[in-house]
Amino acid sequence: MALGFSALAFRRKLSRWYREHARELPWRGVDNPYATWLSEIMLQQTRVATVIDRYQEFLQRFPTISDLAKADEADVLALWSGLGYYRRARMLHRGAQFVEREMQGKLPGTVPQLRTLPGVGEYTAAAIASIAFGESVAVLDGNVERVLLRLLGEPEDKSAQGRARLVAIAGMLVPPAKRGHRAGNAGLVEIDNPAGDHNQAMMELGAMICLPRSPLCLQCPVMDLCRTRGEHATATRAKMQSRTVAHLLALRKRGVETEVLLERRAKEASLMAGMMELPALPLDATEGREPVLRLRHAITNTNYYVQIFTESSASGQGKDALGVEPSLVEQIPAAVGDLEWVTTSKLAHLPLTGLARKTLQRLQMMSVPRLKMGKE
Ligand code: SF4
Repeated sequence: MALGFSALAFRRKLSRWYREHARELPWRGVDNPYATWLSEIMLQQTRVATVIDRYQEFLQRFPTISDLAKADEADVLALWSGLGYYRRARMLHRGAQFVEREMQGKLPGTVPQLRTLPGVGEYTAAAIASIAFGESVAVLDGNVERVLLRLLGEPEDKSAQGRARLVAIAGMLVPPAKRGHRAGNAGLVEIDNPAGDHNQAMMELGAMICLPRSPLCLQCPVMDLCRTRGEHATATRAKMQSRTVAHLLALRKRGVETEVLLERRAKEASLMAGMMELPALPLDATEGREPVLRLRHAITNTNYYVQIFTESSASGQGKDALGVEPSLVEQIPAAVGDLEWVTTSKLAHLPLTGLARKTLQRLQMMSVPRLKMGKE
């Protein structure tokens, strides 16, 4: 299999560009395999800007694998709230318990060993092994695939053979491991990590220059080696669907506290099991009522047009024959999940779904202070 250009020339151009243009991200240049693992899991299917704050918050709350292993799952999910794909948080938590129990608390450094951890697939194992441990193994994510296909001028091939071919090409480009150490605060510190830097540079090139639509070829460090130098036909993304949904915001006072009614998804639910959200309402129960809030929330290929109702958002059109407006709480479908009243001061620490968090933030419910009683 021939690349059609020199791998060495490619690496040099890419590495020079990466040194000058790489974004400063909190997980880069960090000598902490656990932090690399965390960042790689968080970055799966989530935008960098969203991950930045959550990554730092997570590391502050659970600074080591051991801290994470000892944590309650609900606390881990609460910190993950807003990042979506909560299975990742559960797997990370179980992974930390596995490392603590079976590996003396030390994250292993090779792809086969890393693959034994829950939630760590081929891509994540290669990223951790190269970035945190300097292994010479190529990382092949969607960004890297696109860069390679355009460089080679080849059409997208989603078959197992097509994928194997790209893995082999990515492997031809990754530099050999070069290990060196110096004394650092945390013991011996790697002085050079060409494989890890190369993988990060490939992903950075895909994320910042070789964009899915309208690549910035004039700014590309490897433009003279590229056969495409422009947009490359790749499979079109699935069309976005639209759905309208309704949720109830029910509040009550309990002494100095305000409580909000939340529904906890069943443990067996196929999506976001155990997460909490505002109770869903059937759309026909809200007919004739004006929502207190409308917002749009996108999850994968669906745009949710969300309407939030309160008991007082009645318009009068929904009254029954006796002129009584039916209570919305009574319209919550039975047996969807458990209903719980929780104090608003605790909301920030609960495993809320991304939509619930966004809604409660918009309604300024996340930080409703306790009422002051007498001389507090
Ligand atoms: S020249 Fe353009 S298409 Fe080719 S790798 Fe660079 S950005 Fe991508």
